[in-house]
Amino acid sequence: MEKNFELTAVDLYPEIMNIYGDRGNIIYFKYRCSLYGIDIKTYDVSMVKGSEKECGEADIFFMGGGQDAEQALIYEDFINNKKNILTEAVENNKIMLAVCGSYQLLCDYYKSTDGKIIKGISIFKGYTESKPPRLIGNIAVKAGDFILAGFENHGGRTYLEKGQNVLGRVLKGCGNNGEDKTEGARAGNFFGTYLHGSFLPKNFAFCDYLIDTALKNRYGVRLSEAAKRNGVNINNIDSDFEIKARKDIADLRKFV
Ligand code: GLN
Repeated sequence: MEKNFELTAVDLYPEIMNIYGDRGNIIYFKYRCSLYGIDIKTYDVSMVKGSEKECGEADIFFMGGGQDAEQALIYEDFINNKKNILTEAVENNKIMLAVCGSYQLLCDYYKSTDGKIIKGISIFKGYTESKPPRLIGNIAVKAGDFILAGFENHGGRTYLEKGQNVLGRVLKGCGNNGEDKTEGARAGNFFGTYLHGSFLPKNFAFCDYLIDTALKNRYGVRLSEAAKRNGVNINNIDSDFEIKARKDIADLRKFV
């Protein structure tokens, strides 16, 4: 009976697409897995050819936000060297958490503030056009059974095609475009969101959901069973600090 569970996480362009500390997502994912006795192998993959091996091992991809200049900087490598990897990954039920500028590149196109059209990889069906003012502030979102908390700062307004699944509905803040109360997008186990924060430390229950999904995909085992085989009772996991941190976001307190 499998005991030592290991997951592999890849952080794409961490030295470039990491605005507002989005690197915290892979750091928290690794920490949260350790609470359940699950080992994590992590790779940082940036603008280098030949990263197919590391990416091929990934159970989950992370990619953070970036200003228009950073999005343009990674664009050629993203299209030439990562598009096919990610398209195959979503078809194989792998997981991705793409934040803000990265989320925009997983849509059909991003029209930057200076009017440049950057073609995306169409994992999510929709487009983004940047215009003033920037949408900035704390945000709360109802996403299925989760109430997600985060911070947003984007000029881009994302409009999803009819039928494209959203991540959730905005309870407080702007979300995709500040108009239709939608936030983020989902395709398979790929999640796009405008929530910086970092996102996962502010949403530990959603992080557990991603761990559970990754274990199910790789081992056919749920998180509760994997933890039990590791001698961990999931009811004893201490999330008090995370719960307090969510409550400390004053203008989200009544939502989270
Ligand atoms: N440059 C994009 C925008 O302004 C993304 C910004 C970000 O990643 N925070 O919408």
